[in-house]
Amino acid sequence: MKIASGGVQHETNTFSDTPTTLADFQRDSGCGPDFSGGEVLEERFAGTGTIHGGYLAGAAELGVELLPLLSARAQPAGRVEQVAYDQMLNLFLQRLAAVLPVDGVALDLHGAMATEKHDDAEGHFIAAVRQLIGPEIPLVVTLDLHANISPQMAAEADVIIGFDTYPHVDMRERGIEAIQLLVRMINRQVRPCQSYRQLPLMTMPPMQCTLREPMQSLIQEVFKLEAEPGILTATVSMGFPFADIRDAGVSVLVTSDSDQGLADQKADALAARLWELRDQLQPQLTSIEEAMQYASEHPEGLVIFADGSDNPGGGAPCDGTVALQAMIKADFQGGVVGVLHDPDTAREAHAAGLGAEIDAVIGGKTDAQHGTSVVTHARVQALSDGKYVHHGAMMRGLAGDFGPMAVLRVGGVEIVVATYRRQLLDRDMLRIVDIDPQTRRLLVVKSAVHFRADLGPLASKIFDADTPGIHRPDFSGFEYHHLRHPIYPLDQDTSYPPGE
Ligand SMILES: [Zn+2]
Repeated sequence: MKIASGGVQHETNTFSDTPTTLADFQRDSGCGPDFSGGEVLEERFAGTGTIHGGYLAGAAELGVELLPLLSARAQPAGRVEQVAYDQMLNLFLQRLAAVLPVDGVALDLHGAMATEKHDDAEGHFIAAVRQLIGPEIPLVVTLDLHANISPQMAAEADVIIGFDTYPHVDMRERGIEAIQLLVRMINRQVRPCQSYRQLPLMTMPPMQCTLREPMQSLIQEVFKLEAEPGILTATVSMGFPFADIRDAGVSVLVTSDSDQGLADQKADALAARLWELRDQLQPQLTSIEEAMQYASEHPEGLVIFADGSDNPGGGAPCDGTVALQAMIKADFQGGVVGVLHDPDTAREAHAAGLGAEIDAVIGGKTDAQHGTSVVTHARVQALSDGKYVHHGAMMRGLAGDFGPMAVLRVGGVEIVVATYRRQLLDRDMLRIVDIDPQTRRLLVVKSAVHFRADLGPLASKIFDADTPGIHRPDFSGFEYHHLRHPIYPLDQDTSYPPGE
């Protein structure tokens, strides 16, 4: 039995003016500039907490031949340049055509990619694959919990399996699940009937977190549903709200074995349950001044200020300075801000050397929406080549690279800067610059939720930041022109099901 796998992953923030280029994918994919498949891809992902890590493990366990053809990903940013998308899609289709016939296909996609031409890039991608393999070959797609699942995606895939966790710590499990289900489909042991419901609902990242209520309990309900007789899998997709496209927002999928009526009924119930929770999914935000005050009054533990507005994992520049400026101004002692994307400052720090004093212009360089540059005198406290390995529950075992990295100290504040834009979500990313967060008082992380998997347990208190930015969890700051309406909470009188 032969299963082909691959995909292109991007979470596109359409409010970003930084386009995502082919070079971004070539740098961030980690499989070389030609997006090597086969052994290179196996080498990168085998044993890791990733979707392809799960595909490989599932295939090995079941004695199936997996043909990993392509894994192209880029750090979230603005729309993907059309020429880049077309080239990567064509590369995948060529490689897939070259190995046909196969018994099944597993696609590793994100679900919130938008290109210059395609608001629903995954819908386009899945349809192109379906056209190549025909209607009979089983096609299973794994998607991120932030997928904006469109009617076309649901129609073209036999089954979509979304992550059940945020932080995304179940990628490997979902990859294994996809291969197991594909094999049962190929062996005609099951016949999936998928039911898709799109809700008139958008939610913001902080409260999509499955370590917090109400999502923690909701996911337990999803697991119970999946254990019911006749149900193969179920997905709650919370959507990516920083995308001005028709299909942004929340959807659910329930897949039964051979019983469309059962799948429809369970999908309706799951959608109704989410709709009930809509007001509990709105976050509360805290200013940096309040967070500093709290840290001063509670000196015994680490306070984390989750600067999700500037989260590179959702397409933000990751060089925002609002919290940093306030901490320097307040002469805060024991503060860490990181990891800022500032290649210039990282280069200057490396040129000056360890212990040097430099005149630095830190952050605020990408746009005017995340604060102005901090112009200051700083000491180079640490330098690193930026190479790390994820040790936490998310992407465990996967190698990462910040490029040249440095820690600058200004008074009582340490500022971690890096050459490449990456989300701070693993202790190893600070260990490589000799920072143990447990010995500090206030950590400003450029992350909305993912940091919680590995850094969260170190914190005595976590605040969702009230800072400006293109990933700010507050709908009042965004203008949508292409989104479907009515939709909650933008249109307060929205009802679900429609008309009720
Ligand atoms: Zn996600």
